[in-house]
Amino acid sequence: MATSKVLAGAQVVLPTGTVPGGRVIVTEGGRIAGSAPADPEAIETIDLTGHWLVPGFVDVHNHGGGGASFTSGTAEDILRGVQTHRLHGTTTVVASTVTGEMDVLAQRAGLLSEIAEQGDIAGIHFEGPFISPCRKGAHSEALLRDPDPAEVRKLVDAARGQARMVTLATELPGGIDSVRLLAEHGVIAAIGHTDATYEQTKAAIDAGATVATHLYNAMPGLGHRAPGPIAALLEDERITVELINDGTHLHPAAFELAFHHAGAGRVALITDAMDAAGFGDGTYLLGPLEVEVKEGVARLTEGGSIAGSTLTMDRAFKRSVTVDKLPVEDVVAAISANPAKLLGMYDRIGSLEPGKDADIVVLDAEFTLKGVMRKGDWVIEP
Ligand SMILES: [Zn+2]
Repeated sequence: MATSKVLAGAQVVLPTGTVPGGRVIVTEGGRIAGSAPADPEAIETIDLTGHWLVPGFVDVHNHGGGGASFTSGTAEDILRGVQTHRLHGTTTVVASTVTGEMDVLAQRAGLLSEIAEQGDIAGIHFEGPFISPCRKGAHSEALLRDPDPAEVRKLVDAARGQARMVTLATELPGGIDSVRLLAEHGVIAAIGHTDATYEQTKAAIDAGATVATHLYNAMPGLGHRAPGPIAALLEDERITVELINDGTHLHPAAFELAFHHAGAGRVALITDAMDAAGFGDGTYLLGPLEVEVKEGVARLTEGGSIAGSTLTMDRAFKRSVTVDKLPVEDVVAAISANPAKLLGMYDRIGSLEPGKDADIVVLDAEFTLKGVMRKGDWVIEP
């Protein structure tokens, strides 16, 4: 009876480069091993010649999928959303909430923290309510509030150690103190849905902010006399920039400019997906707001603001390689390694190195997803 799986013959993307005709050994315990057992009886070999093996995708900004919302669904709904994204290669997902009443968000944090404790999500990202009414996007204006550190603290506490990131408009009253509070608690302070100037953004980075929430979207544009948050976030080595590469949120030239300027080590590809991801067109609710999804593009019924995406990470990967012509290794860094590092989980996930979880995506020569393994078990068998 085989105890180890050997995935053989594929192009294996490692942090040090791509190994042609390489192999990845998966132990019975679901980890990647440095060598195969000596007994050939104990090995099941899977021939993946002509394929790519890359680490499982890590999505740090995702509101749901498969018709389910992380902000309003039941525990069962949340797991369905997680499973939908797993089928598209996302082996680690942080559940993002949208703006809601404080006590409702605190309740959500309780439910999501239980699911995180089971290991099905990698924690919680609160997007709102501490964001700018000028850049509210698909968030309910009536429920927005200034980032009072005491209120920020309430949400972090409600998440019982599972708060990973809070997106806030750091230029609002209490913004800088809130960044400091988050940094002290080991929670990522992400600058986003912001109307900050270049100088205000720099001050927030100096206070401890480390992520740009979907760079370009829901913030002032890059002006030649008013460079705004985009320039401040792109130029600072301490910042990882989230990018939504679905062809709708960003023009390819804007995506490529940010990717090349920040460099492959400072980009995290995200989906910002909502319920319709992996599900289909129709009418949905994002928090309290109605969203119409047509041809895969989600917009608020009222006002027409883009309301999250229907992107999945496998499409973001393929697009980055085939449309944007980025090196596969750089895309792997941006879709797996960098977000794993942000979460402080790079010792367990984010690369195909011995000792890590066997979270593996199999792609064909055209970069279409053909297989997904999570902790050694096939989610999709190639
Ligand atoms: Zn979002």
